[in-house]
Amino acid sequence: MQRRRIFVRGIVQGVGFRPFLYGLAAKNGLTGFVANRSDGVSVEVQGAPPALESFVHSLRTEAPPLAMIDEIRVEDIAPFAESEFRIVESVSEANVSTPISPDIATCKDCLREFFDPNDRRYRYPFINCTNCGPRFTIIRDIPYDRPNTTMAAFPMCAACEEEYHSPTNRRFHAQPNACRICGPKVWFEKSGETVWEEPAFAGAREALAHGQIVAIKGIGGFVLAVDAQNEAAVARLRVRKGRRDKPFALMARDAEGIAQYAIVGDEDSQLLRSRQRPIVLLRRREASRLAASVAPGNPMIGFMLPYAPLHYLLLDDGPLVMTSGNLSEEPIVYRNEDALARLGDIADAFLFHDREIHVPVDDSVVTHELPIRRSRGYSPMPVKLPVERPMTLAVGAELKACFCLTHGQYAYMSQHIGDMENLETLDAFERALQHMKSLFRCEPERVICDAHPGYLSTRWARGYAHERELPLIEVQHHHAHAMSVMAEHGLPEDATMLAFTFDGTGYGTDGAIWGGEVLLARYDGFQRVAHLKYVPLPGGDTAIRHPARVALAHLFAAGLEWSDDLPCVRACNTVELRVLRQQLSSGARSIPTSSMGRLFDAVAGLLGLRANVSYEGQAAIELEALAAGTTESTYPVTLGTDEFDVTPMWVEMVADFRAGAEARVIAARFHRTMAEVILHYSRRMRQEFAVQTIALTGGVFQNVYLLTLANDLLAKEGFRVLTQRMVPPNDGGIALGQAVILK
Ligand code: ZN
Ligand code: ZN
Ligand code: FE
Repeated sequence: MQRRRIFVRGIVQGVGFRPFLYGLAAKNGLTGFVANRSDGVSVEVQGAPPALESFVHSLRTEAPPLAMIDEIRVEDIAPFAESEFRIVESVSEANVSTPISPDIATCKDCLREFFDPNDRRYRYPFINCTNCGPRFTIIRDIPYDRPNTTMAAFPMCAACEEEYHSPTNRRFHAQPNACRICGPKVWFEKSGETVWEEPAFAGAREALAHGQIVAIKGIGGFVLAVDAQNEAAVARLRVRKGRRDKPFALMARDAEGIAQYAIVGDEDSQLLRSRQRPIVLLRRREASRLAASVAPGNPMIGFMLPYAPLHYLLLDDGPLVMTSGNLSEEPIVYRNEDALARLGDIADAFLFHDREIHVPVDDSVVTHELPIRRSRGYSPMPVKLPVERPMTLAVGAELKACFCLTHGQYAYMSQHIGDMENLETLDAFERALQHMKSLFRCEPERVICDAHPGYLSTRWARGYAHERELPLIEVQHHHAHAMSVMAEHGLPEDATMLAFTFDGTGYGTDGAIWGGEVLLARYDGFQRVAHLKYVPLPGGDTAIRHPARVALAHLFAAGLEWSDDLPCVRACNTVELRVLRQQLSSGARSIPTSSMGRLFDAVAGLLGLRANVSYEGQAAIELEALAAGTTESTYPVTLGTDEFDVTPMWVEMVADFRAGAEARVIAARFHRTMAEVILHYSRRMRQEFAVQTIALTGGVFQNVYLLTLANDLLAKEGFRVLTQRMVPPNDGGIALGQAVILK
């Protein structure tokens, strides 16, 4: 007879770990106990040595689906008289940090019951179990037990209580456990009338069928739903929400339904069905019945499958637009009392429920290559850090803000907060921060922000650090992008890598706008070994909205004439042209930039794809879509020691255009040219600095066409290529990179 004490760290709470161990102990005829602790799960087992071995082995290999084990420690202790295996009460300790599970889509077992007329939870919109349901959005504090969640308001009925306390039941300690008798309820409000439960869904379906906009409270907040095949309805939603072109996401009942509207590959299908249930960006089919206003001019379309039981009660055959319940640029609405006030002018009707959302979390967006927005289903799953840092708060940049808190080896990235450009978003940021600090027992010892003096996040970080007398570290934007790749791939403290950080805007150490950077990067600093040659950008950041003007700036820099046969010239009136020319000749109100994002905009502007855009990256997305097909041919670029000059490319590209070359061929050649630039500097820096590892990051690398081209060229020559897999390459992933800076 021997006794072992086992400590398991990782996501082991609220995921059915204790019943799993209970079953395992029974199977192996062991006695002992298991207890949740603030930093993991503690187990003691006693029995014959082979049975103990088998227990530890199964613990490693058969853990429940939502568990994420980081560490298992086993020690021998003295056995004592004991007759059973018990699950003991949770122990809460201060100052220890344990990860908690994200919100997980309804599992197969629950769906089977949900559609079974004989089950007591038949069509119950809040069905869940140990393997599925809301988590992060309902947790007020740890340990993760019912009294610490918003489910505390719903005392369980006898039947639910029985399931909850029975170790062999699949709802054992499922904290959101509920049924129609004891759990949350749904109601529907329209024109001052209210109906409950099944009639509520009938009301919502009818309103949607009539082209009305319905605000629906889901898992992480309200979404605005409308029939995706009804053009008038979708167009009305655009007007009311104040969102001109940015694509709306869609939800369909099953993957087969989605395949009618978009091309769904095997990897896409897996992602769509994954328990995170993100919005997956797919290439849309040409002739589909989707309303044109769903994603105007966009070749891609974002689809997701139902992730909450109530979605199944709303979807008929056709897909629904499901977009965040907010006014453009504002954070998502998540409280019943705010919904009527803030969404009342947008929605015709409301589907409410009374399970409180403690933390708002937007839907996540991914492609099968990259995360684009990391939120529901992923946050607050930590990134395990390869290096040790003091407890850190990193506040991110400005657009697509996420912050990062570290505690020991864990980096907790927040859910998507939004563009930090207004006070509403700053409020949401502060609330989310407060919550995550207490949830993960993290009291920052240092604060890190972007070096851009004008960012709201930078100014906020300065104030926060000053008030608490904490050290404040300002990190150059592209260095942070590079470190984000370094951290998520677990590179060691002394690693050096070559990072191509291509994005729209980042504040450079010389005050210029950077964005086409080749950095030799380490945790403790970087060397800018090459960059796109500066081009003066008239109007600075406002140029983001006008690809035609950016094209004119590039033409001007290349010494090319603004002649009327070019679409970017025709897109501007005489006054605009005069002002631009004057700004460019005098240098007044122009900021030098090496932005790769703007170069993509400029090429799109030259080709006449788009003179103006209503959201960041719009022109570049269309340029990428146009570049379908491959080409071996490139445009000439002057590859200098420390900068690359695209003047010769512009000369030839304009000549191509004038000679009537197809836009898609020009677009493909342009992409290929940029990939070759990456290959050139990779080779050179390998010679000079012996670096083998290449990182490709920054918002421009959301361009999968470019990413794949560059990746293939580099891999063929034996480079180790790192791209983002856990956090986005855009500014939504930058806080992770900030957090690991060594200073
Ligand atoms: Zn379930
Ligand atoms: Zn019940
Ligand atoms: Fe960036």
